[in-house]
Amino acid sequence: MTADTPQTPEGNKPKGRQIYKMRVVEIRDYTSRIRELFLKCEEPNQFQFRAGQFVMLHVPAEPKPALRAYSIASNDQQRDGFRLIFNHIENGLASNFVWTLKGGELLDFTGPFGRLFFKEPPTQQIVMLSTGSGISQHFCYLESNLKKYPDLRYRVLMGMRTANDIYYRKELDSLKREFKDFDYEFVLSRADDSWTGKKGYVQHFLSEFNYRETPTTFYLCGNGGMIKDVKARLAEDGFDAANILAEAFD
Ligand SMILES: Cc1cc2nc3c(=O)[nH]c(=O)nc-3n(C[C@H](O)[C@H](O)[C@H](O)COP(=O)(O)OP(=O)(O)OC[C@H]3O[C@@H](n4cnc5c(N)ncnc54)[C@H](O)[C@@H]3O)c2cc1C
Repeated sequence: MTADTPQTPEGNKPKGRQIYKMRVVEIRDYTSRIRELFLKCEEPNQFQFRAGQFVMLHVPAEPKPALRAYSIASNDQQRDGFRLIFNHIENGLASNFVWTLKGGELLDFTGPFGRLFFKEPPTQQIVMLSTGSGISQHFCYLESNLKKYPDLRYRVLMGMRTANDIYYRKELDSLKREFKDFDYEFVLSRADDSWTGKKGYVQHFLSEFNYRETPTTFYLCGNGGMIKDVKARLAEDGFDAANILAEAFD
């Protein structure tokens, strides 16, 4: 991972590596592999970021903490904390640590980092494709833009293996109620026969978005293979790469 230069939410001014001490105030386990942490600022008592940015979690380790990047999932207007979604990686250092948490712990973070901001002015259509915990970055864009851009056409596809891996349905339903033209679907790569929704990989459904006729920005987040594949398919079709914003988590 390329740890970016620390950025202030406002621009390019480098910021010292301030450690933010954040309290774990809630833990939500959506599946056996997806966990969300609700974190509240303790010291200092404020944290500012812009939608699309990530923080570095300092995982306790010897001889020094190991740093791992996590995209912020919550609204960027919130100042007293943020939410992070974790996808458990087998034998992963940070993953194992996060799954030992019980709530109430104080964690160290640095940030915010990253410059993958929501593209402005926005296009008429916004398509967000994610795998694993990639919805975190997209959910942050969506929640943060609810008041500013309520009228765009938003389409979200989340890729996962089976119906047991599905999460965030309630959160996405709530966005569906709030935006004028918002829809989402899960795409299962290992669906059983009872699944009546989309089967395969998110990149198999690009043509449904009518992006040749409708000015569109694609946001891609999660698995690097998915991102590469979507970019290649869109490039073959002559789609402008400037309208593809991607963050790989692996
Ligand atoms: C900008 C950015 C934002 C990110 N945001 C998030 C986020 O919001 N939520 C989230 O869960 N993760 C996110 N990640 C990934 C995260 O930083 C860690 O890489 C991940 O949690 C694994 O860390 P670990 O310490 O558990 O595994 P490690 O101990 O680092 O790795 C264990 C093994 O798993 C492999 N591995 C590492 N990462 C992955 C992966 N993502 N998929 C498959 N295999 C992997 C490694 O090659 C290694 O063999 C983000 C990464 C980047 C670069």
